[in-house]
Amino acid sequence: MLAAADKDAAALYEPAVQALAGDALVALRSRQLAALLERVGRSTSRYATAGVAPTALTAFPPLTGVDLAAEVDAHPPFGRLQLRREPFIRAGLATASVPQPTPTAWTRADLDAEARWGARALRRAGLDARARSSDCLDGGLVTPGTLAISDALDTLDALALPVGPVTSEAALRRAAEVWEIVRPRVIIADAPSLAFLYEAGGYPRPQAFAVLLVPGDAAALAAAARPDVCRIFSVPQVCTFTAGECRARDGYHVVEDGVLAEIVDARGAPQPDRSEGRLVLTTLTRSLALLRLDTGLRAALDRTPCACGETQARLRFA
Ligand SMILES: [Zn+2]
Repeated sequence: MLAAADKDAAALYEPAVQALAGDALVALRSRQLAALLERVGRSTSRYATAGVAPTALTAFPPLTGVDLAAEVDAHPPFGRLQLRREPFIRAGLATASVPQPTPTAWTRADLDAEARWGARALRRAGLDARARSSDCLDGGLVTPGTLAISDALDTLDALALPVGPVTSEAALRRAAEVWEIVRPRVIIADAPSLAFLYEAGGYPRPQAFAVLLVPGDAAALAAAARPDVCRIFSVPQVCTFTAGECRARDGYHVVEDGVLAEIVDARGAPQPDRSEGRLVLTTLTRSLALLRLDTGLRAALDRTPCACGETQARLRFA
């Protein structure tokens, strides 16, 4: 019994957080939420109301993508969303849940946290130290992109091999040459590259694909799970690795120590576990805070134990 538990723990990147007992997880969430609301009260962000810390997250109406884009437009470059005066060290253009590409940015602490959450997600896809991977994500400004993946692979001590998007035979021939030599265990892709590669031949098939899906990929998020595809739900303004499938392929584990997921009704009122509604997300630690961002997706939250040993809540998309 103990051996089985140890084996399961070893499969998780951060078992101390990912397999926290239910009551400890509830306590952690409420501590982080209280700290967030206190930071909001002390900030000069768009959420602050004359230095008074709000007592409940539900005091804030869901933030739509249109609201967010308007805030960033009116207060360039990133909107009045920062809760702590810390320097940003990376910026990118987020397209998830917003009507137009919207600048976002990360501090050192934000990037360190994302790298850890990314390591958790990629470990679930079958990568560990010294394992080889290759990613077909965009470089440059686009998020989720190859930079975030490289940080996560660094943290895992796994091999990164960025080859750029693979959505044509010519791109595949170029990538396949290096894949023949390196033999990646996991190929990391976005939805277009996965769609192309999944049907294509002529390259060494990896053990699994890890795919980063954004709110615009609603159908792919809700589709039936596949044993050789590990899906990661990415909302870069909130968290590049907001939630991810585990080996049980039975929902997406939320990074509950970084993101608070709520299911709400049309008026923004929280709904009970396992009932379907709109998915809104709140950043618990990020410097550019988003409170109750409306993803535009329908989902349900499940807090029952998962076969993989993780206790962090699972999302199921509708
Ligand atoms: Zn699981």
